Amino acid sequence: MRFLIILFIVAHITPVSAQLHQQLYARYDAYKETSLSDRRFKPEDVQALLRQLDNSFTKKEAGRSVEGRPISLVTYGNGPEQVLLWSQMHGDEPTATQALMDIFRWLSSSNDGFDPIREKIRKSITLHVIPMLNPDGAVRFTRRNHHDIDINRDALRLQTPEGRILKHIRDSLKADWGFNLHDQQRNTSVAGKAASVSLLAPAFNENRDVNKTRGDAMKLVRYIYDQLQSFIPDQVGIYPDDFEPRAFGDNIQKWGTRTVLVESGGFQQDFERQEIRKLNFVLIISALESIASSSYKKVAVKKYNEIPNNAARRLHELIVLNVNVEGLIRDVAFDRRETQNTTARHYYATGYVSDLGDLSTSVAYNSFDASGMVVEWGKLYPTVFDTVNDLQQADLAALLKLGFTDFIVREPVDKFSTVTVISPPVNIHNIVPAVSETLRLGSNPSLVFKKNEAVKAVVVNSQLIRLDD
Ligand SMILES: [Zn+2]
Repeated sequence: MRFLIILFIVAHITPVSAQLHQQLYARYDAYKETSLSDRRFKPEDVQALLRQLDNSFTKKEAGRSVEGRPISLVTYGNGPEQVLLWSQMHGDEPTATQALMDIFRWLSSSNDGFDPIREKIRKSITLHVIPMLNPDGAVRFTRRNHHDIDINRDALRLQTPEGRILKHIRDSLKADWGFNLHDQQRNTSVAGKAASVSLLAPAFNENRDVNKTRGDAMKLVRYIYDQLQSFIPDQVGIYPDDFEPRAFGDNIQKWGTRTVLVESGGFQQDFERQEIRKLNFVLIISALESIASSSYKKVAVKKYNEIPNNAARRLHELIVLNVNVEGLIRDVAFDRRETQNTTARHYYATGYVSDLGDLSTSVAYNSFDASGMVVEWGKLYPTVFDTVNDLQQADLAALLKLGFTDFIVREPVDKFSTVTVISPPVNIHNIVPAVSETLRLGSNPSLVFKKNEAVKAVVVNSQLIRLDD
């Protein structure tokens, strides 16, 4: 009987904590801060949310940016472990900031089955959060601060007020843990796939030695890695671990705070990184629970070294293999770049050819083999539409099958407006365009792929549209 009771306890307790990450993932929508839904939100959006925090949080102004914007410090809980999280040190890396707002909502909630977890966190941890360390960069959606200094290369010289704020808070808390929250390029890969999240326990010296501080951070990184496998298997890598003497993560590790770098990356067609935001929500709460319960201590440091490294190969958006144009067989890689408006609130994406030739060793989100197919340039549709909406009402799939990829509408087209993003994607113009009939690096041709006279696929603005019946 005693055996049975023990068995029951083990069976009952283990799965609950093991599945916290699954529960957080499954029930995320209840906590998502829906006022933020894309990457170009602004400091005032964050400040408005911080003003709504209930009295389980304390909020203070930690200081001001070069341009005088407040940089806030939010505190929660009263446990002995001092955990510091800071996001958006780079103004155009906003994914974790959104997740932090979701986490505040989760912390404010109750009677949802998570109360024991919150209580454990509150009693074991004091949480200190700096959401959006670089508000001036966020206003312009640029990496650097007002003076074009990369705050993450200012940990020693401390010429930026933003860097001084982070250093001061870290030192005054003597933080036990630090979470350094960034975004990496969408084209970062790991083992041939998107590095949707990368992690690192930064080195504190050139030798990349492992002391107690870094060893604990490595254990927690491995813990987080294991949790993420259920959602993005094989899409989590270790960020390059060269010691960067000027960076905050490396120095904060050196100053004795166990530091974990989280880099949010690309995922399928999730250009606004909302899926990765959700994973940040899951991984940060899971990590806090692990710190609170000390469960990370059971992880062997050597398991950290088994995590694959981010690869040097960039992940293209699209590769079309064996494209036969101008008497040459070439593989063609496509990528996209964003052009934002003057308020840095909206953008449009432009495709371009990023590589040509034998790309058999390259990797991409999406690929298509054009072997044996006839390739034609996309055509301009001869009839003018009055409005974008009229165009959307047309049978675009049928028109694409006839090789029409470019359309003229009479109403002025605002390229920054989301209204002009139509499905399937086609190119929209106000005047007769100079259609790109060239396959060169940097060009943005529309390509039509035919087999036995039938159009099988079209590439428009670097997007592949399959038209197989
Ligand atoms: Zn960054």
